[in-house]
Parts: sequence; structure tokens; C-alpha cells
Amino acid sequence: MILVVGGAGYIGSHLVKELVRSHKVLVLDNLSTGHQEAIDKEAIFIHGELGDQQLLNDIFSTFPIKAVMHFAASSLVGESVLNPQKYYMNNVVATLSLLNAMVKHKVKNFIFSSTAAAYGISNVKLIDEDVPTLPINPYGRSKLMIELILSDYAQAYDLHYVNLRYFNAAGAYPTGEIGESHHPESHLIPIILQHLAGSREKVFIYGDNYDTRDGTCIRDYIHVMDLAAAHIIALESLLNGKNKAATYNLGNGSGYSVKEVINTCEKVTQLKCKVEIAQRRVGDPAILVASAEKIQQELGWKAERDLEAIIASAWKWHKHQKY
Ligand code: UDP
Repeated sequence: MILVVGGAGYIGSHLVKELVRSHKVLVLDNLSTGHQEAIDKEAIFIHGELGDQQLLNDIFSTFPIKAVMHFAASSLVGESVLNPQKYYMNNVVATLSLLNAMVKHKVKNFIFSSTAAAYGISNVKLIDEDVPTLPINPYGRSKLMIELILSDYAQAYDLHYVNLRYFNAAGAYPTGEIGESHHPESHLIPIILQHLAGSREKVFIYGDNYDTRDGTCIRDYIHVMDLAAAHIIALESLLNGKNKAATYNLGNGSGYSVKEVINTCEKVTQLKCKVEIAQRRVGDPAILVASAEKIQQELGWKAERDLEAIIASAWKWHKHQKY
């Protein structure tokens, strides 16, 4: 059985829907930002807090957990600058209780949702895993702290782990039954699609004076279904002993500016977007694009869906959004 912490959230719920095909799955989620409707019916669901030691002890003593996949985190860069306490408590302190419970119960395998924000501002065109990690906001630092702790725990307690550094997750389940839904929404693609679906007046572009080809920030958008596939491959690499301690980027390897994303949304939906240029958002690096060569070479994973496919699936979800 695999414990998925944060399995009601955006990325976790997509992973769970795929993982139930090959494993028994237990989801632990406090539903602070996740949605119970998004959890696949095949999975067992426990509503509870990650920092609850007693609950973790009960879970690890009751269920034969072979591995833990950890998606539960606060993940808004701007909020982390204004409220770092929330980020260090939710992302560092709560994760430490989970790791300590794993050590106590001798659960050996851990998949960690890390982030491209761990790199900070990088001048390289494609960021590979050897680029120095110098995060520029508390969100990135909170994730990097857990990566560092994992490396110490691996040495001392023989914990095996894979850190997956996501670039910009987007898109939805192909059937449109689950998708991205944050309240309030802060991510670019859902914001554009909400506007095009009629629930927002316009789209604000946060800064058009960056040193990029059209002045707007460039990001590497990765389909949530490609992310789910990468998690399953990484999990198998721990379970079959191929990996003991690894860190991989998960991205497409191509960057799109905010304006290019808006244009692609217009193309996919055949609708016209109303935009307004606004101030830069705090903590935003100009360009973040992944090299995902390492995971391709070591585990054979490669992103298969491009920006149009990402937006098309997200649009299907947005037109009939259920939660
Ligand atoms: N962005 C924007 N308008 C919005 C939301 C986001 O211009 O309403 C920009 C944001 O400044 C960043 C990019 O879109 O450059 C992606 O932002 P998002 O919040 O989706 O992901 P992040 O890169 O912060 O993880």
C-alpha cells in the first residue's frame, strides 16, 4: 500500500487516479486546499493533519505502507514572502513529523514534491539538477530545507527518496472529471481560462519589462498527467531498488512567455482575451525552464504533452468545473 499525503490536491489527485491501477492507495489530507470529490473512489481516505503524530503512528501501525508520496504543502510564492511562518510550519515542520514517523516505523521509501523555485534566479538557458540551489523566496527555501534533511536522513536512517522538482504544473485529467481548482486561483493558465469562460473580467500580466523576448516571464509548463506518470516511474525505481537518493527536474524543456500562453489559450478556445499590464509580482524570476534529461536517461521518463494539449485538457475541465 502507498500513502499519498495531499492526495486531494491538484497534483496529488491526478497521481492517485493513476496509481490505483497498480497499487492500493491510502490518502491522508486535511482538505485545507484539496477537494474530497477529487479523490479516486478506489483509494482509502483519511481526513487528518500531517503534523498529528498519533494519527501517523496509527496509520503506520495499521496499514502495510511501502512508500509515502508527499504532496501536501503551501505553494504560493507571493504568500510565502508575506507569511513565511505558514510556509515553514506547513512545509518543513509538518513534513519533519512525517519523516520522523517513517523512521520510527521503518518505512523506507519517500517521494517528495519539490520545486523549480529551489533554484532561484538562474542565468542558464536550461536548468539541470547541477545548477546551484539558491531559492529567492520562503516557499523555495522551505522545499529545499526538506531536500537537505532528506539527504541527512538517508545517510543516518537508510531512508530512500526521490525529490521531484516540478516546473509549472498545468492541465487536467483527460476525461475532464478532475482538474486544477484553487480558491483563490493564482496560476496563470486557470486564470486565463476562467476569464475566457466568463468568470473573470480580464487577465493581468504581472510585468512586461523583464529581460525576455517579449518582456513577460517565461516558464516551462508541464502536463499534470506527465507529472503523474513521472511519480509512478520514480516510485517503482525506489521499490525495485534502482534508486536510493535521487533528484530530478520535471519539465518539458521549452519555455513560454505569459503572452505566448495567452495566445495559445486564445488559439485553443477560439476566444479573445482582455489583458492589462500590471506590476511585477514579488519573488518572480524572469525565466525558469527545465532540462529534464537526467530523468529521461536514468528512468526513461519524458514529458509527452505540449502546451496546446495542456491548455486543451484544462479547457475541457474549466467548461464543466465540478469543484
Ligand atoms: N502570471 C500573470 N498573471 C496572472 C498569474 C500569473 O502574469 O494572473 C505570471 C506570473 O507572474 C508568472 C507566470 O505567469 O510569471 C506563471 O505564474 P504561476 O502563478 O502560474 O506559476 P509560478 O511560476 O509562480 O509557479
